[in-house]
This record gives sequence, structure tokens and C-alpha cells, in this order.
Amino acid sequence: MSKRNPALVPVAILITIVILAGVSLIKLNVQRRMAEQHAAATQLAETSAYSIEQQIAHEFATVENLTADLRSRGSVENFSALAAASAPDTDEPGLFLVSGGKVTSRFSSTDKTATWVDLLATGWEVNSDIAAALPQRPELLNPVRIASGEWIAIIREPLVLSTPSGTRHFAGWVAASVPLDNLLRSAGLDKLAGAGFNWEFSYYAADHSQPHKVSGSADSDLEAPIKQVIHSTHDRWFLAVAPANGWLPWRLLVSNGMLVAILALFAGVLAHDLAQRPEQLRVAVMGRDQRLRTVNQRLSEEIQQREELEKQFSHASFHDALTGLPNRRYFIDRLRRAQQRVRQNPGYFLAVIVLNFDRFKNINDSLGPAAGDELLTQAVRRFESCLRPEDLVIARFAGDEFAMLLFDIGSTQVALSAAERLQNTLAEPFKIGERNVFTTASMGIACVTSGYEDAEELVRGAHIALSKAKTDGRAQRVVFDPATREQLVTRQQLETDLHQAIERQEFVLNYQPIISLETGIITGMEALIRWRHPLEGLVPPDRFISLAEETGLIVPITRWVLGQACTQARIWRERFPSEVDFYISVNLSAQDFRQADVCDYISAVIAEHGLPPGMLRLEVTESIMIGNINVASELISRLRSMGIPLLLDDFGTGYSSLSYLNRFKFDYIKIDRAFVSRITSASQNVGIVKAIVHLAQDLGIRTIAEGVETLENKDNLRSLGCDFGQGYYFSKPVAAEVVEKLLLARTRW
Ligand code: C2E
Ligand code: CA
Ligand code: CA
Repeated sequence: MSKRNPALVPVAILITIVILAGVSLIKLNVQRRMAEQHAAATQLAETSAYSIEQQIAHEFATVENLTADLRSRGSVENFSALAAASAPDTDEPGLFLVSGGKVTSRFSSTDKTATWVDLLATGWEVNSDIAAALPQRPELLNPVRIASGEWIAIIREPLVLSTPSGTRHFAGWVAASVPLDNLLRSAGLDKLAGAGFNWEFSYYAADHSQPHKVSGSADSDLEAPIKQVIHSTHDRWFLAVAPANGWLPWRLLVSNGMLVAILALFAGVLAHDLAQRPEQLRVAVMGRDQRLRTVNQRLSEEIQQREELEKQFSHASFHDALTGLPNRRYFIDRLRRAQQRVRQNPGYFLAVIVLNFDRFKNINDSLGPAAGDELLTQAVRRFESCLRPEDLVIARFAGDEFAMLLFDIGSTQVALSAAERLQNTLAEPFKIGERNVFTTASMGIACVTSGYEDAEELVRGAHIALSKAKTDGRAQRVVFDPATREQLVTRQQLETDLHQAIERQEFVLNYQPIISLETGIITGMEALIRWRHPLEGLVPPDRFISLAEETGLIVPITRWVLGQACTQARIWRERFPSEVDFYISVNLSAQDFRQADVCDYISAVIAEHGLPPGMLRLEVTESIMIGNINVASELISRLRSMGIPLLLDDFGTGYSSLSYLNRFKFDYIKIDRAFVSRITSASQNVGIVKAIVHLAQDLGIRTIAEGVETLENKDNLRSLGCDFGQGYYFSKPVAAEVVEKLLLARTRW
């Protein structure tokens, strides 16, 4: 069913109003024009009639004068002489034609050829009767056709003169004649046509019956003409004047009509438009409303998604992706809270056990990482089953390293027996696929007695004990004590050594390639520091970077790394053809970032080595945002304006406030390996990685996946839209010479 158009009513009303008003106006206009025409026609007719009257009067006067003249001469001789002068061979009475006040011709009454004589004869007959009555007035004759033209004549009564003998003698007539055309032209009638009028000249016969049209400007009869009587003709003659195109001004009518039609159309369109406007507005508002609602919904979905993601992140940042266990950060947090309880309850006793599987690497290498993962998962389930519920803080520190927090255990002995129970759970073989796998673990135990120990220090103590246990052989349990500490490099010692490490040139840089997942070629590499400790051997950065950060030594270390990386970059730049394109990324700590001169320093290093922009890149974690956000934001902008791309490191594990991503412009996000190494199609990590990649794509940021360990990892990441990858699957961090070989060989993965 078609909806009634609400616009039609106002449109119809407006059009009607315009048409009615237009018609009235047209009517007035036409009436005015007609009145004007009428007045003009009347005036023209009057003037012309007057002019004709004047001419006739003049002719009358001429006839009168001549007659008087003839009379004054008083004799027939005179008359005859006069007549003879004009028409010599006759003395008969005749017609004296007068023109210009003079007798111009005389016709004999017997001369039948001349029309005027015919006329005269008629006149004679008429006037012979009249002659008896001797009328004293000259007579105006109605127009008569002579040859091709109409003439009018004014004729005097028969002129009777006396002879010398005294007899009265009829002498003839005196007449004036004028061609009608001349008369009318002089009256200006031929000019009427120029003014748009037609005219007609007519007269009534003596009996006043039907008017005879004598002359006129139009062939047809005039339509409702103005009739003007010529008074000097005893109202027998009259002029009729009418507009040539009729009284109705058609052109005016048509043009006005068209104008009204256009106005009506215009008004109609306007009214339609105005009437539609509320409708259009309503539709527009509805559309906008709908759009707003959609946007709103999308926003709330996005917010929800982000909240979900943040929740996952926060879980991920405290939990291990494989086992679902808390991680080291979470563990330290719980330990600190527990220490608080110890401080409040003297005699309350806690223990930290750090457990590491013996030769776990062998299992991984021989059975594959998936088997290793499976074993770890099963082992954790066994650990959980043998601990008291109140002890259930098991954390995964690293690959095969776990930590447990035992509450209120009363004595070191209790801790040791718990460790033994843990060890016993491993006695049974693990069923991995078709195989039975046996494994053992070593444990280091640190006890909390005062609650005032540093939590990290406690864990380090447990680690020291673990190292001791490992050196003692497999499946050992060692309780940390100060004596054990003596045997190993203490934290203080490590700190002291760290101070001298730069001078002693104990640091080296390893490089780990970053591969484009699309092309499979190396696009860059991360510089990773190693410390060759004279006693401890190779100390991994995990063990000394936090120490360096705490002591402020990180600043000179970072500067050393920057200098070293730039030197290396320059060497490679010179050694490789220009089409080998890559960058080196250097890790920056939050503390480095807080140095007022960090930008100047970096730009100086780049300049000193003459590196092209973009060849040096910086990796920072979200920790740089803690503290003064504005300072961090300004620094990031400055570095970017210097052409140094920034990589947001370890994304997903730290604070992972997604708002940072909007606020700070990073060029790359490095997705933390916690999400990456374990992505299989079933795991929750797929969702997280997907969400991060999408988020990054939305913000125009490229993604690098860390910890790519298998081909499957790589393929999954690629299909998720991740841009780059880094990890053991491609290459472990290796010495500069090894990377160089990879570059030279143009290795592709
Ligand atoms: P990071 O920035 O996340 O560096 C990557 C770490 O992941 C490296 O450990 C690397 O060896 C490891 N890794 C790479 N691929 C894989 C993989 O496929 N699987 C597994 N499980 N791990 C992989 P590394 O060299 O021990 O460095 C540890 C951390 O120490 C770094 O983590 C970084 O935060 C810090 N670090 C290293 N070098 C420096 C440095 O020069 N300056 C600063 N400030 N920190 C550094
Ligand atoms: Ca890094
Ligand atoms: Ca990282």
C-alpha cells in the first residue's frame, strides 16, 4: 500500500493560491491595458474626426468665398468669361471645380463623359428642385467614386445671376472637391496603423439606413470599434477605430499566464521541498541515530574486547601459558605478602623451593619440545597433588624451573621433607605418547625466618642453593645457608664485578635475526648482551640486568651496547652491498629512558658512526611509561622525529595498558614469547595473538612475534597476519660472525 504523500496538500494549496492571485492580477492587468487602448483609440478617433471636420470646414469656406466673389462680380458675362476661361466653347451652365480657392475646371452640363457632370446632373436634378427654393446653404455630398478614387465634394446651391437686362439667369454651381484619400491622410489616419490600430471610414446614405464603408485600413470588419461621428457632416460620416490585434491583449495574457504558471510551479516545488524537509530531517536524524547506535555498540564491543584482552594480559602477565601456573612475578608478589605475615607473627615459618629438572634439555632434544611440555604439565599435576592446599603457590620461573612457597612449616626439616615428597612424585615414569620417560629434579630451598629479607634475595638464595644441588649431582636438595653463599658469587660480588665488566671488556653482544614472515628474509636483528664472567662463565642477562638497573649501572652498560651495536652496524654497512637491508635493535631500560641526555647521546652515536636513519632501532617496555608519562611521551616523539623507530618490547606481559598504544606512537610491537611459543590452534593464546595483531593493524603498527620456536609457530603467526618473527626456529642469539654468514648467504626461512 502506497503511503499518502504528506507534501501534496500544502503543495496543492500553495499552487491554488498562486494561480488565483495570478489570475486576478492578470485580469487587472488586461483590464488596465484594455482601458488604455480604449482611451487611445477614442483619442485617435476624436483627433482624426476633428481634423476631417476642419478640412471640410475649410472647403466650405472656399466654396462660400468663391460664390461670394462670383456674386460680387454680379454678372453673367463675368461668370461666362470666367467659365470661358476654363472651358471655352460653351456658355452653358456647368460645374466650376474649385481647388486651392480657385476655379480649376468647368464642366458643361451636357458633357456626359465627365463623372462630375454625372454628378452634376444628379445634383442638377436634385438641385433644380432645390433651385426653386433657392437654398442658401452649400451642401456636402457623400463620397463618390471617380476613376480609381473616392472624392468628396461640397457644392453650392445653383448660382443665379442677373444679366444686364435684369433677367435672372442660372449660372451653374460652385463646388469644391477633395480626393477622400488626401482628406483622410491629412487627418493622420494612415498613421493609426503604426500605433497598432485599424480604422474605417463610413457614411450613412441620406436615409440613414445602412452605413457604407468607403475606406479602411483592414479588409475585414472591425471588432467592437470606437465610433466617432464627424459632426460637420450632420453626423452622416463617421470614423471607426479598433486595435489591430483586437481588444484582448493576447501577448500580455500569454506572457502573464506563463509567469503565473512558472510561479505556481516554483511555489509547488518550494512547498514540496518545505513539506518534505521535516520528513528528510526525520529520516536523517533516524539515520544518524542508527549510525550512532551502531558506533556505540561497536565501541562497547571494542571496550569489552579490550577489557577481556587486558584481563587475559593480566592473567598472562602473572601466569605461565603452558601450565597455567603463576609466574615469577606473581610468586614474588605472594612471597612478599607472606613475609608480611611472618613479620606480624613471630615464629611463623616459610620456605621457598626452587626446582629444576635434571638434564631436561636431553628430553627436549631427544623427544622434542612437545614431549618436554607434556612432561612438565604432568609433573606439575603431581606436585600439586602432594602439597598441602595452603602451600599451593607453585610458579613456573623458566622452561623447566619451578618454585613453590610453603606456608607455616615450623622448621627447615619440614621444608626438606616436602622437597623429598616432591622428588618422590617423580619416581614413577611419565607416560608420554607410547613412551615411559623418567626424570629427576634438583631443588634449592631458602627459609624465611624474620620476614625482613628481600624477596628477590630469598629467591636468589634458593637459586644459589639449587646451583649447589646441581653441582652435587642429580636429584639433590640443598637448603640455602650463608656458608653456601660464600662459595658462590654473592650479589655484592656480582655488583662489584659488574662495575668493572665494561673496562675489562667482559661483555659481548649476540645478535638474533628478526625475519619477515612474508619473505622469509632477515630484516633486522636484536642485540642481546652476554657477560663472560671470569669465574661464573657466561652469565645470562636475566641474572645481571635487573641488578644493573637497581644499581644504575645499566646506563653505562646501555651506552656500551649502543656504541658496540653501531660499530657493528657500520662494519656491516661497509661490507655488504647496499641492497642488503637490515637494522639492529637495542634494548633500552626504563632507567636509560630517564636520562635527560638520552636523545642527545643516541643522536651523537648515530652521527659518529654515520648510520643511515632507521638502521638503529630501540626496544623499550611499557615500564618506561611508569612515572612521568609526559616525559616519556615527549622522548618518544623526539626519538621518532630523529628517525629512530621504536619497538614496544614484551607486549602482553607487562602492564599492557592498551591505552598506551593509542597515546604513544610505536612502530612495532613485539609480542612476548609467552604467547607465541605455545600457540597451537586450540590454545587461548591464538585469540590473544590475533587480538594483538588486529589491534596493531588498526593502529598502523607492525608486529614482531618473539620466541618463534617451531615451523608450526611460524605458519600460525603468518596466517594470523603477524609481520615478523624472531626465535629459536630461525636462529638463537649468535655471535656477529654467525649473523654475518647468514646475511652473506642471504638465508631465507
Ligand atoms: P628480550 O628483550 O625479550 O630478549 C629476547 C630474549 O628471548 C633473549 O633472551 C633471547 O635469547 C630469548 N629468545 C629468543 N628467541 C627465543 C625462543 O625462540 N625461545 C625462547 N625461550 N627464548 C628466546 P636473553 O638474551 O637471555 O635476554 C633476556 C632479556 O634480557 C631480554 O629479553 C632483555 O630484556 C634483556 N636484555 C638482553 N640484552 C640486553 C641489553 O643489552 N640491554 C638491556 N637493557 N636489556 C637486555
Ligand atoms: Ca628485547
Ligand atoms: Ca622481548
